[in-house]
Amino acid sequence: MISDSRAARLVLGLLAAFASVVPHAENALPALKFPGPAASAQSAAIASKGYIVQELRDHLYWLSDGAYNTLFLVSSAGVIVVDPLPTLGANYLKAIAEVTDRPVTHVIYSHEHTDHIGAAYLFPKSATYIAQRETARLLTSRNDPRRPMPTLVFDDSYTLAVGDQTLVLDYRGANHEAGNIFIYAPKQKVLMLVDVVYPGYMPYPNLGIAVDVPGYIKAHRDALAYDFDTLVAGHVDRLGTRQDVEVSLEFVTELQRVGARELAESPYPTYLNRHPGENKWFVHDAYEKQLVDQCYAELFPKWQKRLAGAELMLNSQCWSMIVALVVQSPPVDASPR
Ligand SMILES: [Zn+2]
Repeated sequence: MISDSRAARLVLGLLAAFASVVPHAENALPALKFPGPAASAQSAAIASKGYIVQELRDHLYWLSDGAYNTLFLVSSAGVIVVDPLPTLGANYLKAIAEVTDRPVTHVIYSHEHTDHIGAAYLFPKSATYIAQRETARLLTSRNDPRRPMPTLVFDDSYTLAVGDQTLVLDYRGANHEAGNIFIYAPKQKVLMLVDVVYPGYMPYPNLGIAVDVPGYIKAHRDALAYDFDTLVAGHVDRLGTRQDVEVSLEFVTELQRVGARELAESPYPTYLNRHPGENKWFVHDAYEKQLVDQCYAELFPKWQKRLAGAELMLNSQCWSMIVALVVQSPPVDASPR
């Protein structure tokens, strides 16, 4: 039987792992130190109609509700929709109608997560629905009527040319999720990559719930290989830049180095030997907590100044990275740069 205090520790550990409760955070949400530079016009538009739509370049539009965002591209032959966001729902179609009366001919899924594509059922059945093969495989198992199956599936790369517009879709391996793709508009020099970089903010907890942490880090380098100046990242209240990708990469590589050094300095068998006779599973729990606390203490002073939300989310990033170093990553050089 588990004692109440041990059960409580177990629950707290799980909550911390999912970053619903972070030991260093207050119970109430603290005011973020530097929220994105949402212009007042942008805030007013979101308050009045629920979204803003903004042309980035050459009929490529950014669409945002302030927390989620995506893009659509108006071609001479119809509209290419990316990520039918459920937070927008039918407002997505209203936003398109604000700028064109052309029909939606294509719908692209960045990845299978419902919070990004769960309004797909609202879009025309006649459209072509495009996704990477891993996304299609996952959607087969979900059997979710909100996320209709793609009708065009690709493996590595697909160039979508519609009328006078082009989007390049690339898959470079699992990162945030298996099947999460790079969506690139070469003429506009705009790149879309969802749930990897959070411009100006610390990633969503647990490195944006990355299923593959080495792949998540690599996705930053893959992104920087594109010739782009504007990033549509799927979240937060502003667009991103190359510099946002570089800062996020600096954060995750530093996080990885700190985690690797801690694991090298304090291997689990040594920690276990110092706690003989205790329940070894709970000793492991305490071991992880110690590593996470050290990681937080080392990284917080620097990163709370550079990425908003560190006080809420840094603990979960430390936990995810340490676990990934144990279960996923090849050996990492822990020496300082
Ligand atoms: Zn996602």
